[in-house]
Amino acid sequence: MTTETVQTTVPSWRFKVPPKLTLTQRLKLLLLSRAYLMHLKRPGWRKPLPIYIVKCKRHGLYLDYPHGFRGYFVCPRCWEEEASQKRGEKQPC
Ligand SMILES: [Zn+2]
Repeated sequence: MTTETVQTTVPSWRFKVPPKLTLTQRLKLLLLSRAYLMHLKRPGWRKPLPIYIVKCKRHGLYLDYPHGFRGYFVCPRCWEEEASQKRGEKQPC
């Protein structure tokens, strides 16, 4: 089904949302659009980072860790769409 080869830009763990969420996680997603999942240590990371399940209005659930000082999240599919738009023909915004 999924091919690991196409995921050169977005790491595959970003899409590994657990199929079953706890009630607390579902409530937090509903109220805050994000829910803490676990700490994850990846190659190249100096320390484990908190991983959240985050809800994209267009693409549904994905995994991410807080970026920057404000701790924002980036949907990998939105990110890919934006990146492919920049690569391809420039669309007027
Ligand atoms: Zn998205």
